[in-house]
Amino acid sequence: NQLSSKEAIALEDKHGAHNYHPLPVVLSRGEGVYVWDAEGKKYYDFLSAYSAVNQGHCHPRIVNAMTEQAKRLTLTSRAFYNDTLGPYEKYATEYFGFDKLLPMNTGAEAVETAIKIARKWAYEKKGIDENEAQIVVCENNFHGRTTTIISFSNDENARKNFGPYTAGFIKIEYDNLQALEETLKSNKNIAGFLVEPIQGEAGVYTPSDDYMRKAQSLCNEHNVLFIADEIQTGIARTGALLAVCGKCSCEGHCEKQADTYAQPDILILGKALSGGAYPVSAVLANNDIMNVIKPGQHGSTFGGNPVAGAVATEALEVVRDENLAQNARHLGNLFREKMQEFVDSSNIATLVRGRGLLNAVVINDTEDSSTAWDICMALRDNGLLAKPTHGNIIRFAPPLVMTEEELLDCVSIIIKTLKQF
Ligand code: PLP
Repeated sequence: NQLSSKEAIALEDKHGAHNYHPLPVVLSRGEGVYVWDAEGKKYYDFLSAYSAVNQGHCHPRIVNAMTEQAKRLTLTSRAFYNDTLGPYEKYATEYFGFDKLLPMNTGAEAVETAIKIARKWAYEKKGIDENEAQIVVCENNFHGRTTTIISFSNDENARKNFGPYTAGFIKIEYDNLQALEETLKSNKNIAGFLVEPIQGEAGVYTPSDDYMRKAQSLCNEHNVLFIADEIQTGIARTGALLAVCGKCSCEGHCEKQADTYAQPDILILGKALSGGAYPVSAVLANNDIMNVIKPGQHGSTFGGNPVAGAVATEALEVVRDENLAQNARHLGNLFREKMQEFVDSSNIATLVRGRGLLNAVVINDTEDSSTAWDICMALRDNGLLAKPTHGNIIRFAPPLVMTEEELLDCVSIIIKTLKQF
């Protein structure tokens, strides 16, 4: 009784809100780096659900952890304890090096949580006057879709006609330490600096190697919380467990190298925290910050549920056991090297950038042109799925379980396709 692709698209079109513009391909199965459409055609997935499926589609260990837990207990709410949350919190806090974790479900919720924690910390620990706390954010940020988060977006399409907006945010240029320093110096009411270590949605903008570390020192100097949104960049995607590590040479686990490593005061994770199997997000911080939140001040019915705990623990173990950070670093270098050779000899693409397996190719056309979309349609026809971001940029972010042979196969599909234009 399976739907054809055409029928599935027609149903969504008629009965679903039109809040997305998907590439016309209807997926019905996934395994590792591959997905299959409703007619059985096989594709390489080069988006990984916006970097949520780092561990590969339907990873057997993650699916097993999820189904075993689902048979035993799915939801208690936080009105009671459950026997999965504590072990998960212990595992994840030790894994990332923080005292405490606050469990949520989606990325945007975790960002909202971090904002609330930072504000409360500012009033209760830093001594900022009531309702005066400011959070510094970057231009072209993407942190999610809630009313507060879009209030500090500068993407007009994401913002327009959703006002009135939430106050209390100051926007500065990304990768500009001077702008950060001047803002921190001139304003005593700053609670935190919220930043993406690489701006994924903006088009995989990769800042200077020392940006994170120096931004962290500036924040420390001014008693401002350094808040890293690693929802897209975290969990091995950029060739290190966390992208705030910059170019550190950790073997998948962050050896804190003084010259490159930045330790956020608040770390925000989502997406691949569950390997894409289940909505799981988290905010991590040490006691002096996290303990400002008291019973009744924040929560979520599903946040920290037993299935989430079981899935996230397994998803993190898989990242370690399968050395996904090292693989992402190795394959990412290879991808950029091969794509750079092509870009140097072609007119269709102007540059390739990224870190680990979070990369983008900039197409030689204007932002409002349809060339990148047309290229993605041709890639689809050639068996590889990717999506444009901001008009003329195509993001390339496959699951991290890819082999070198598969990556080289994908590079040849991408180059063959680009040559058609
Ligand atoms: N923050 C960053 C950096 C993201 O890339 C995303 C999603 O793309 C979010 C926050 C929002 O996550 P979610 O879509 O799960 O709410």
